[in-house]
Amino acid sequence: PPPTQARVLELLQEGRVNFLRLQFTDILGTIKNIEVPRSQFEKALSGGVMFDGSSIQGFTRIEESDMLLAPDLSTFLIYPQFSREEGERGKVARIICDVNLPSGEPFPGDPRFVLKRQIARAAEAGLTLYAGTEPEFFLFERGEDGRGTTRTGDHAGYFDLAPLDKGERLRREIANKLVEMGFEIEGAHHEAAPGQHEIDFRYQDALAAADAISTFKFVVKRVALEYGLLASFLPKPVAGVNGSGLHVHLSLFRDGHNTFHDPAGEFELSETALHFIGGLLEHSPGICALTNPTVNSFKRLVPGFEAPVNVAWSTSNRSALVRVPAKRGNSTRAEFRLPDPSCNPYLALAVMLAAGLDGIEQKTVPPPAIQRNIYQMTVREKRHHRVRELPRDLYDALDSLERDEVISAALGNHALEHYLRAKRAEWRNYAAVVHPWEIEQYLDLV
Ligand code: GLU
Ligand code: MG
Ligand code: MG
Repeated sequence: PPPTQARVLELLQEGRVNFLRLQFTDILGTIKNIEVPRSQFEKALSGGVMFDGSSIQGFTRIEESDMLLAPDLSTFLIYPQFSREEGERGKVARIICDVNLPSGEPFPGDPRFVLKRQIARAAEAGLTLYAGTEPEFFLFERGEDGRGTTRTGDHAGYFDLAPLDKGERLRREIANKLVEMGFEIEGAHHEAAPGQHEIDFRYQDALAAADAISTFKFVVKRVALEYGLLASFLPKPVAGVNGSGLHVHLSLFRDGHNTFHDPAGEFELSETALHFIGGLLEHSPGICALTNPTVNSFKRLVPGFEAPVNVAWSTSNRSALVRVPAKRGNSTRAEFRLPDPSCNPYLALAVMLAAGLDGIEQKTVPPPAIQRNIYQMTVREKRHHRVRELPRDLYDALDSLERDEVISAALGNHALEHYLRAKRAEWRNYAAVVHPWEIEQYLDLV
């Protein structure tokens, strides 16, 4: 059970905390926070802090711009000290908040509320979604001017050890900080590309998983800054090497049992698991607009870099969109390999859950599992095996989202409209820029 208000106040006193951050995310997943000093702690904990929503991305609605931050006391934690200079005086705690309208009703454009609505839908069927996330990221050097570069000064590869791995010390420091904050980390390792790393979270309920990712990104960036490096969650910062994914291992529990396991089923998977996977595959073009939300996201989704390009599932191959890892029993799960870490984790988990639940309700049967490397299949083979392609770019993904009634409904009108508007504007900006590739390719040629 979450601690009471009185208990949190006590913890704030005992921890000699001077500032409390009331944290939430905008529609694009950027962390926002309002920091309040000691004198405001009681007011903040009882949900009395108001802010002007009209300047937050995706919250804009001038008529009702006053919004209230309703703290979720179960998310209370005291931040570890990030820099030596901070000292005792700078101790900061944070609580993740829901965003409410002045009436006390939840604000429909709050991404956390969008996820909670799907969680409630699952709960009606007695189901709880668990998610184990695997964020990948790059550590880059900063230039003379302090700005980020895409240089890594690192030539290590998958699972390599120091002294090749320059980021190792920093990665361990990040993991330490996360553990200090109470997160359950299952592992941390160097990833395939130079300068690329991964930290794996133990599975937890979907809301906690989304809360963890949004805080995680902040912590990684903060610790990297301390080391003079830049941590980037850009999905494809360097062409020609692997990009960064945010794989999510999904399972649905009922009364403490994993509904995905059935010793008698094919691959020991239950009907529920197959329908859930069926729903994920069917809705993946629309999901993509949330899980892969930037122009750059689609440069990761190309053949040859362990990222999915086609709509297929497998119990072995990493070129598939959904992979079912070998563990069974309560560890039976579907690894959804589509998301990248530039997504809003609340919206991403909300649409994955909505798609899976739709699969269960409609009894969607997925096409047969494909165990081969899909990157190497011909167009004809793909057609034969009913393998569709994912959207090619953000523009295509946004259209797929708008066409998908299940995914659109999961977002709700307010979030959907604001999301489409912001993302279409992003696409138009990109489309109007002349990129270096075009000059190189065409300037002389045409
Ligand atoms: N970095 C790969 C991706 O973009 C995933 C590598 C892995 O299997 O962990 O999704
Ligand atoms: Mg990985
Ligand atoms: Mg993985």
